[in-house]
Amino acid sequence: TKHTDISLKDIDQIAKSSFPLCMHHLFGKLREDHHLKHGGRMQLGLFLKGMGLKLDDALAFWKAEFSPKVVAERFDKEYAYSIRHNYGKEGKRTDYTPYSCQKIISSTPGVGDHHGCPYRHFSEENLRAALTRMGVGNQAVEDVLGKVRNRHYQLACTLTFEAVHGSSCDAGINHPNQYYNDSRKILES
Ligand code: SF4
Repeated sequence: TKHTDISLKDIDQIAKSSFPLCMHHLFGKLREDHHLKHGGRMQLGLFLKGMGLKLDDALAFWKAEFSPKVVAERFDKEYAYSIRHNYGKEGKRTDYTPYSCQKIISSTPGVGDHHGCPYRHFSEENLRAALTRMGVGNQAVEDVLGKVRNRHYQLACTLTFEAVHGSSCDAGINHPNQYYNDSRKILES
């Protein structure tokens, strides 16, 4: 079944309950800093598009998030183009697809970047804190960290999904939008 398109007013609540850690982190940093560098804007922007966020809503969302630091005029000049570009409305008019876990895990975030996969790119200390904030219990956190130490990042994410939802995820997580869709299925049923 296809999910109904999401609307902006629900986005905070949905981010909290149904975003995988990579997107949860980007969303939180965007809210905190009112800015994201290019890699983060691409990773989160395409994910939101994959969730069914319409182009007009995407423009409104990014503009509002950036607004304390970036005035409307500069936003329209510097950022709106790349958002429309992601939706296939500019340049080669490619309809870009959201990034898979494999692509995100193999990315190389630099200083000041918040994209990437937290299971791969966070320190153990930061990952432990992030998982605890997500409501993952102590034993499950240890299980997740065990997978991370063996470099099984998607399995770590799958265990997190199961701990947060109290429900198994037999297929395993291989795409952030799959995490989101599976989460909505459980929470809306
Ligand atoms: Fe995101 Fe995939 Fe990493 Fe999970 S395993 S945090 S969905 S990139």
